[in-house]
Amino acid sequence: MAPFGFYPVEGVPERQPPRPRNVLNPNLLHGRLKVSLTTLTPLVVGTGAYELREDDFVRGICREGGVPVVPGSTVKGVIRSYVELLSKSCVLQIEKGQPAPSCKTNFRAGSPDAAVCPSCQIFGVVGQKGALRSLVSVGTFRPHRTPVPEEVIRLPQFYRPRKIRREGEKVFRKVYRHGNPKYILNAVSTWKNRRPDRYAAVSDGVTFIGLIDFVNLEPEELGLLALGMGAVPSRKFQIKMGYGKPAFLGSVQMEILDIQPLSNLVWNGKEWTREHLWEWAEAYVRRDPWIGRRAEEVCRQQQFDEAFRQTPREHSYLGWDLVGGVYGWEP
Ligand SMILES: [Zn+2]
Repeated sequence: MAPFGFYPVEGVPERQPPRPRNVLNPNLLHGRLKVSLTTLTPLVVGTGAYELREDDFVRGICREGGVPVVPGSTVKGVIRSYVELLSKSCVLQIEKGQPAPSCKTNFRAGSPDAAVCPSCQIFGVVGQKGALRSLVSVGTFRPHRTPVPEEVIRLPQFYRPRKIRREGEKVFRKVYRHGNPKYILNAVSTWKNRRPDRYAAVSDGVTFIGLIDFVNLEPEELGLLALGMGAVPSRKFQIKMGYGKPAFLGSVQMEILDIQPLSNLVWNGKEWTREHLWEWAEAYVRRDPWIGRRAEEVCRQQQFDEAFRQTPREHSYLGWDLVGGVYGWEP
């Protein structure tokens, strides 16, 4: 047991020719999602800089005019990682000497037989032989209400996490589990030889709102995007973002509040709504047994409420040794 789990990567990415980016295809979907992001545990989206708090320095979080925000690039990166998990997509991290099924090395801009995986099609890829622009752009997420409740928390130094694991030819994606950070944060001050640092954090229960624009998406791709946000009502789950994920920080729930037209909400001459989006997500899941199994697995395992209710046994909690302050294992 560890505060994270591993999902095997489908061996062969499902590749298609890259779609043109510069013209709007009337047979594809273009629009804007109004999305909320609510913190379920404290969230640390850091800047690397320090802030002064009560005569002491703490590690700072992203702000605009002093108000905490979540940059679009952070949100986009997180959604991409869950879209990769839920599709037959490539592994972007390339390690020396390893066979990597990556579009980074495979994709050749302008080549007649160029092809990219589902997540590179949607989010783009910067390859060694050319780049493909993203079909999705994510704006800054700003708090729904101010002032934003904040706190300062003490966290030990975490090692820079590896996002993938290899066992021979097999590759796994790493996904952090949910839990209650209270048990870790209460124990931190008792750990020897693990010098904690102070971090500013947005408290739980804070809602941020942001816009996600998309062009030239197939209906099932938009469904996959909504699934990757954990925001499809029938397949809801919670995602993790920011710093301190092994200590159960950064559990968030995303929700699609509204679909706004860029020009007109018409696809193939028909109007469409959120209900169509949920149907397209289902159509995406039902298309392939591997995707169906993966979607069920993710929805079962990435549930916040269930994990939050678990309590420590002896001195251990969801992969942590609460006395020694060590957790899981790192490959
Ligand atoms: Zn790819």
